[in-house]
Amino acid sequence: MDVKKIYMDANALLEGHFKLSSGNHSGFYLQSAKVLEEPKTAKLLADALAKQIKESGLEIDTVCAPALGGLIAGFALAQALDVRFIFAERVDGVMNIRRGFEVSKDEKVLMCEDIITTGGSAMEAAAVVESLGGKIVGVAALANRGFCKREHSNVLTKSNCKLPQDIPFFALADFTFEMYHPEACPLCKDGSEAIKPGSRGN
Ligand code: ZN
Repeated sequence: MDVKKIYMDANALLEGHFKLSSGNHSGFYLQSAKVLEEPKTAKLLADALAKQIKESGLEIDTVCAPALGGLIAGFALAQALDVRFIFAERVDGVMNIRRGFEVSKDEKVLMCEDIITTGGSAMEAAAVVESLGGKIVGVAALANRGFCKREHSNVLTKSNCKLPQDIPFFALADFTFEMYHPEACPLCKDGSEAIKPGSRGN
């Protein structure tokens, strides 16, 4: 399965000259929600991710996603794994599990995101699950930005990866892009202007 082609075809992987939220520039941008716009594509990707997880033999009771980004991927993955789905959400900036969702003691929970960058949000949500007695057994994402090492990939963990190294991380593909400091950006040198993704309605 050519995951990058699926992202490209869905206009979820943009090529151009982008100003990232970090302030750095890049020739690529991932608009993750776009790949989930077609439920058929969401199912295709979630099924492939579920297959990888099942083949690893990992036992899972529940998938938990941090809102908003992880909701669709998490739900689709839970459906493909035939397990329960819950989500965590920020209230006044603090991650929380609400809406009557319960976590039982030692419940095996897989954290799911649409994309893992450093894994910060996933780990904040994971801490809430653990505080309720759950056990985090793994992390999954459709796309990996290349800061954390996933199963079946040679991309090494960078120092800013927040995922624990003692549980598996499953993803379908690594999307590792060059990022440039604005002053050293070759795209700027070529004369184009970096745009902030979202500023043109995307
Ligand atoms: Zn630039």
